[in-house]
Amino acid sequence: MRIRREVAVNASGESDAGTLAWLRRLHRSHDPEEGPFSICMHREDACSVSMTEVTLVNEKAELTYHAGLPCQASDGLNLSLPIKRKTYLRRLAP
Ligand SMILES: [Zn+2]
Repeated sequence: MRIRREVAVNASGESDAGTLAWLRRLHRSHDPEEGPFSICMHREDACSVSMTEVTLVNEKAELTYHAGLPCQASDGLNLSLPIKRKTYLRRLAP
């Protein structure tokens, strides 16, 4: 975990830190090297098997599922749902 944390902290200084492109790049990274401690994890007996993104923008929620190793992920399966704010607020009201 310490190695992954250091990689994430170092990446947080990149000019596009916090963007979706940066997050995808971080989750596909093999820094400091491909193996059991890289964020995209590779071991002989185990590896990362998928990557799921949840994006909330304005009134829309998107979920994108990428099957397989994150470093080899392509476009993935995408679902988009509207957020019904009024329904959510009504449930919280006393
Ligand atoms: Zn990988």
